[in-house]
Amino acid sequence: MESYERKVYFKQLELGPMQNFVYLIGDPETKEAAIVDPGWEVQSIFKTLEADGYTATKVLVTHTHPDHVFGLSEILDAVDIPVHVHKDEVFNLHVEQSAIKEVEDGRVISVGSLPIQVMHTPGHSPGSQCFSFAGRLLTGDTLFVNGCGRCDLPGGDPVQLYESLNKLQKLKSHTILYPGHDYGNVPAISLGEESKKSPFLKQQTCEDFLKLFGLA
Ligand SMILES: [Zn+2]
Repeated sequence: MESYERKVYFKQLELGPMQNFVYLIGDPETKEAAIVDPGWEVQSIFKTLEADGYTATKVLVTHTHPDHVFGLSEILDAVDIPVHVHKDEVFNLHVEQSAIKEVEDGRVISVGSLPIQVMHTPGHSPGSQCFSFAGRLLTGDTLFVNGCGRCDLPGGDPVQLYESLNKLQKLKSHTILYPGHDYGNVPAISLGEESKKSPFLKQQTCEDFLKLFGLA
């Protein structure tokens, strides 16, 4: 059986004032789950997991901008679980050092027996990363439906973002993209569909990409 056909527990929750998506990924056999980007409304995250019969065993963060990590301390006050963050953004995560698990490109994080692969995709921020599992890709603020992350914040880099978006386009076209914010006309889309219409995925050269931001 190919990995994208395997059964997973997966929920996309739109929470908070900035249209953030918080994701829950779990193994239906062990009932373990990861919380991805807990920016807001921690109690409703816990309630959802409880109602579905899952226990949070780890947190994953796509990057450390406040709207993706506001809820971390409330989570860590309630449960003793590790927070997986890219090594280039550990400095920006203000939680108990012992809770931090540094990860890097290519690392596999297991939730129960479900493997989740880390892809380092700098550009929006130095330690931005995407999570790939079971035919899905959580893209954080690297890629949105019909958009991509801004790169004018501290640590942002448009050339790196161009390279990261190229890297994502090498994934299978039926991969479903799940962004960090609900900024598009649909909450998720296949890579193939997105590649057809998004100007941010169509640029042949970095210079053309930079022109979209008025930078070339
Ligand atoms: Zn961000």
